[in-house]
Amino acid sequence: MNARPPFAQTGAQALDFDLLSQGLYVGGQWRAASSGRTIDVVDPSTESVIAAVPDATLEDAAAAVAAAALAAPRWRKTPPRERSEILRRCYTLMTERAEMLALLISTENGKALRDARGEVAYAAEFFRWNSEEAVRITGEFGTAPSGANRIIVDYVPIGVCVLITPWNFPAAMATRKIAPALAAGCTVILKPASETPLTAYALAALYEEAGVPLGVVNVLTTSEPGPFTAAMLADPRVRKLSFTGSTSVGRSLLAEAAKSVVSCAMELGGNAPFIVFDDADLGAALDGAMIAKMRNAGEACTAANRIYVQSGIHDAFARGLAERMAALKVGPGANADTECGPMITRKAVQKIDRLVQDAIERGAQVVCGSAVPDGKGFFYPPTVLTDVPAGALMAHEEIFGPVAPITRFETEAEVIARANDTEYGLASYVYTRDVGRGMRVAAELEAGMIAINRGLVSDPAAPFGGVKQSGLGREGGQHHGISEYMEAKYIAATF
Ligand code: NAD
Repeated sequence: MNARPPFAQTGAQALDFDLLSQGLYVGGQWRAASSGRTIDVVDPSTESVIAAVPDATLEDAAAAVAAAALAAPRWRKTPPRERSEILRRCYTLMTERAEMLALLISTENGKALRDARGEVAYAAEFFRWNSEEAVRITGEFGTAPSGANRIIVDYVPIGVCVLITPWNFPAAMATRKIAPALAAGCTVILKPASETPLTAYALAALYEEAGVPLGVVNVLTTSEPGPFTAAMLADPRVRKLSFTGSTSVGRSLLAEAAKSVVSCAMELGGNAPFIVFDDADLGAALDGAMIAKMRNAGEACTAANRIYVQSGIHDAFARGLAERMAALKVGPGANADTECGPMITRKAVQKIDRLVQDAIERGAQVVCGSAVPDGKGFFYPPTVLTDVPAGALMAHEEIFGPVAPITRFETEAEVIARANDTEYGLASYVYTRDVGRGMRVAAELEAGMIAINRGLVSDPAAPFGGVKQSGLGREGGQHHGISEYMEAKYIAATF
C-alpha cells in the first residue's frame, strides 16, 4: 500500500484520523503491519476510540532497518547545506501547521490546547536549531606531541538510529531526536508510544513534504516494544539507540543494547525539587511553581515533584498555590478554555490516587483537590498537599499528575540534603533573591538542569538531560545534541 500522505490532502483545515492511521511509514511507503493487527488510539478526554494504527511485527522492524540502511549512504553524503535547508523546511511547515498539530496532540494526549501549542513551537524549534547546527560540524587538526605526525579528527554520522519516545510530548520528544540525527547525516527508525502515535505519523508525512528523502525517517507502532526493539538492536546495521521514557524501561534497554554494544542516549525519569527560600519574590515563585508543576498537567519529566518551602514564607506560599490550583479550569484537552486536561490513561489516574492516599495516611494535609471525579475521561483534580513527610511514596516516585506536595524546611543545608535524596537527577528549581545563594545551591544540587528564579528549563539551545538514574547524554544545546549522533574518527597522518 502506498496511500496518500496525511496533510497533503487535508491542509490545515481538519483532523482526519483515518488518513493519520493509514499505515506504518517504512521507506516512504505507507503499509499495513504484516500482523494485520491494529492498536486502538483513545481520546483520554472522552475515552472513545478515535483511530487504530498498525501493530508492527519483527518482520516490519527488519524492513524498517533495511529501509534506513538503504537510505543511509546517500543521506550521509548529502551536502550539509542541503540537509540544513530540508530541516529548515520542516520547521517552516510545522510552524504553518501549528494549530492543526496542536489540536491533534490535544486530542490523542489530552493536554490542554495551550500546552499543545507550546509543545508544537518547542518541537519545531529543534528543526530550526539543528538546521543551523548541520552546517557547523567541525573537526580538529593538530600536531602530535612527538612531532612525528598530524592528528586529524573528523566527526562522522554514527549510522542507523533507533529512536523510542514517550506519550507525554508526542511531537517534541521525537523532533528532539530526529532533527539532530538528520543534521548529523544519520537515518532513523522512530517507535512512538502507542498511546499517541498519530502525531508521529502526521509529522512523518510533513517531513516527506519538506523534502526528507524516502527511507531517511521511518515510523512504526507496535504493541510489543520489547522484542521489537531487541530485534533491531541485534541488527549490526543499527548503531544508536536514543530512548526517552521511564527509568525502568531505560535500564532494560541498556542491558539489551549491551549485547551488541550499541551506543545509547537515555532521557529518563525525574523527581524535581522546587525550593523556595524565605527571601524569594512570592509572586514570581508562585508563577514559577504553576509552570513547573502544571505544564502538561504535571505529566512532564521536569515537573516539580517535591516542593520545599522555607518556614518564613511557607504559609503564604501554600495559600497562594492552593488558590491558583483550585482556580484552574479542568476539561477536555481540545477545549479552548481548558487549563488542565485529563491524564493519559485510567491507570495513570489510579497511580496518582495511590500516591495521594499514601501521603494522607502518613500525615499530609489536603489543601485542595484529591478526589477522583466520576464520569468519562481520565481526570484528576489539581491538588495541593502540605506537611508531606520524607517517607511518603510521592517523595521518591514520579507523580506525573497535577499534585503539588509541599514540605516545610528550615536551613539551606537541610534542603540540599533532602533535594539530593533521590536516585533521580534531572531538573531542579530554586527561588531566592540572593544570587550568591542561588549559585551556591545550584552547585550542590545533583541535577543535570537547574532553574534559578524560573519555572521552565527546556530550550533547544541548551543541553537537556539528567545525572544519576535520570539518564545518559544530552539533547539540544551547542554540539551536545548533535554529537550523540556522530562518532570521532581519528586519522594519524605523516606527510
Ligand atoms: P515508558 O518507559 O513506559 O515508555 C516510553 C517508550 O518506551 C514508549 O514508546 C513505550 O512503548 C516504549 N517501551 C515500553 N517498554 C519497552 C521495552 N521493553 N522495550 C522498548 N521500548 C519500550 O514511559 P512513558 O510512560 O511513555 O513516559 C513517561 C516517562 O518518560 C516518565 O518516567 C518521564 O519522566 C519520562 N520522560 C523523560 C523525559 C526526559 O527527557 N528525561 C522526557 C519525557 C518523559
